[in-house]
Amino acid sequence: MKLDVNALRYLTTDDFRVLTAVEMGMRNHQIVPVVLIERIAKLKHGGTYKVLRNLLKHKLVHHDSSKYDGFRLTYLGYDFLAIKTLVNRGVFVSVGRQIGVGKESDIFEVATEDGTIMAMKLHRLGRVSFRAVKNKRDYLRHRSNYNWLYLSRLAALKEYAFMKALGEHGFPVPNAIECNRHCIIMSLIQGYPLVQVRQLENPDVVFDTIIGLVVQLAEHGLIHCDFNEFNIMVDDDEKVTMIDFPQMVSISHRNAQMYFDRDVECVYKYFGKRLNLSFNEEEKDCDGHDSDNERSNRPSFSSITKSEGLLDKELAASGFSHKEQDVIDEFMEENTEEINVDDEDGKDTTISTDLDSLLLEDLNDAGGSITYEEVENDRIVKKDADGTQLSSEVEESNSDSDDPILTKRLNKQRQKAIAVAQKGHRSSSSRNSYKDKGRKSSNNSKIQKQSLNW
Ligand code: ADP
Ligand code: MG
Repeated sequence: MKLDVNALRYLTTDDFRVLTAVEMGMRNHQIVPVVLIERIAKLKHGGTYKVLRNLLKHKLVHHDSSKYDGFRLTYLGYDFLAIKTLVNRGVFVSVGRQIGVGKESDIFEVATEDGTIMAMKLHRLGRVSFRAVKNKRDYLRHRSNYNWLYLSRLAALKEYAFMKALGEHGFPVPNAIECNRHCIIMSLIQGYPLVQVRQLENPDVVFDTIIGLVVQLAEHGLIHCDFNEFNIMVDDDEKVTMIDFPQMVSISHRNAQMYFDRDVECVYKYFGKRLNLSFNEEEKDCDGHDSDNERSNRPSFSSITKSEGLLDKELAASGFSHKEQDVIDEFMEENTEEINVDDEDGKDTTISTDLDSLLLEDLNDAGGSITYEEVENDRIVKKDADGTQLSSEVEESNSDSDDPILTKRLNKQRQKAIAVAQKGHRSSSSRNSYKDKGRKSSNNSKIQKQSLNW
């Protein structure tokens, strides 16, 4: 998915007016008839079709004349609408490189006027599992207002609400800054997804923290439901941050116990297999009681004291209607279930193949359109999105991120991650290994100033 923000600068007010008209038409049309677009856009001198042709050229809309002459938004078109709104609100001024590719999202760096770098998550529900979407036709037929726009917007809204609430209750999550359409702006986490961490200095401490989070979440009435090595970030001080919340459910969900156990199992499995942590789960002390050792007492759903407030109720009462909550939960649930079935069969599914090729597309497409600067051994190195050096200049060291050893380590990790991603490598130890292939967030990168003024 190309996110060439340069094109944004060449789009006129009329272009955005027509693009917005297509978006509005999509509330009740999968393909919006040209006449309707014209009627909504109400361009002073007509010429809607000419504008649509320009939007088509930039791949912001898709043309479909199979039933009637009409258009629909593409993800890129939707991205542009969200980015324009957020830039107009002054949330950020430039878009930088892509730092993560999830199963159903793309993550980019964005920068404010004063150079603060944040993360922008663009939700893309239904992108990977086209088959899953197809299988859901029955379910979707009952929901006249379904489309990927709607689902992606709901996912973003839900994730934003959860991130904000969790942050306010002291959970280690990114700071939720702003949300528009399918896009969330949050603080950038200085760390790596756990899946990229080969060794931890204190694996037992990190393990206890992570398992502790599953328990604390349940005590607050919530289950993450995708609590795995891709959605747990660890920084150089082994501080843990959890991410990715659109699939979270309440502990009163009918499958709550299963989701809880699955999150716990995921953590045990990963630390056991990949980080070689040993668990004496059968261990008893001399009186025959279970040992006090946290790792020998696997948390059980039934023993959780739900006394820490009712975050699930609080959230259900805010952001969403029950209907919206049901739509997103059902979609997430069906998606997850399908993924699990495939994985249990041990088959290399079309889902993973799709993702690998999409990932490559993402990486290749990003090249040329997005450039960024990185500090390497006290030099600013200008690179394109796949890391090819474009130029370099000397810079004074003025921050701790200019530490050459740290920089070298980070770059090495990053290159490794990109190489793994480009090979379409799939880790065999994780049931969710195809779910996201996040790349680490470089804590020493600077986005090339690419102001987006409209
Ligand atoms: P998905 O829902 O598609 O799985 P995630 O929220 O898990 O998306 O993000 C995918 C990847 O993007 C993560 O594995 C991580 O590498 C990166 N990422 C996501 N959010 C942030 C953030 N706030 N800061 C830094 N990196 C992030
Ligand atoms: Mg994820």
